[in-house]
Amino acid sequence: MSLLVVGTVAFDAIETPFGKTDKIVGGAASYIALASSYFTNEINLVSVVGDDFPKDFMNTLKGQGVSLEGLQIKQGEKSFFWSGRYHNDMNSRDTLDTQLNVLAEFDPIVPESYKDCDFLMLGNLMPAVQQKVLSQLTKRPKLIVLDTMNFWMDIAMPELLETLKGIDVLTINDSEARQLSGEYSLVKAAQKILAMGPKVLVIKKGEHGALLFNKDEVFFAPALPLEDVFDPTGAGDSFAGGFIGYLAKTKDVSFENMKRAIIFGSAMASFTVEKFGTERLIGLSDEDVSKRVQEFVDLVQFDISLV
Ligand code: AMP
Repeated sequence: MSLLVVGTVAFDAIETPFGKTDKIVGGAASYIALASSYFTNEINLVSVVGDDFPKDFMNTLKGQGVSLEGLQIKQGEKSFFWSGRYHNDMNSRDTLDTQLNVLAEFDPIVPESYKDCDFLMLGNLMPAVQQKVLSQLTKRPKLIVLDTMNFWMDIAMPELLETLKGIDVLTINDSEARQLSGEYSLVKAAQKILAMGPKVLVIKKGEHGALLFNKDEVFFAPALPLEDVFDPTGAGDSFAGGFIGYLAKTKDVSFENMKRAIIFGSAMASFTVEKFGTERLIGLSDEDVSKRVQEFVDLVQFDISLV
């Protein structure tokens, strides 16, 4: 099942209580593509970088089976740059700088061979660009998942609301769910957001796990308690990559299967936070992933008798 991934491929500079990086490779689509590559091997990327972006990383993506035909490289321009500082709890962060650079004029072109994708992951990007990708597809994918963030809610809310009408699953974090809905209670927020278009909502709560809602049901996946969390950047995108990658692998988009998919998403996120940037998502074995998922199963499995 082919998976089309759209989002930023970028440079990040990160500060956490444990250290600081110079410009390193990041971007929502980088994390999504790497995380999903452990589940499905037909991954197509639509994004844009400047001529400052390292060829090494492009080769890494190719090595993980990601097609880069839809990655535009703009000569004489600079790649998207984001910089953030995490608070002591590592669960919240401040954006220090966002430089759109090549993203400011980005006109996504979906290559012909990508247009009949079965699964579409619209990673964090301006909502108008996400919509432009949707409008180029020749058939409606089996599943459309969209991720976004407060930055786009602040500057492009009308376009975001329009884009939400055409998707199946929205993944956002708890503060973004509150911002989007105007509700403090996440249960009330979920009901309001589900009325905006998505049939399913995932609310990511960092080290406190993730909630999966549809109109009638709610399911919870924990985050793995890890000894060392170095850098939470990309955890949400790795989650999304594991989530949609697992759904594409199993070809089953039922709510029951999404419950399993958020465990796989959480497992991929747990790898990402163990090192700075994308490093931990490169070169994992199937056994590493299975072992990690088993840790999640062990974490929440218990027998209870109610009689
Ligand atoms: P996450 O930690 O999963 O929310 O994602 C972090 C990644 O999102 C970083 O690698 C950034 O390059 C990227 N990012 C940050 N701000 C934006 C933005 N406004 N639009 C798209 N991608 C962004």
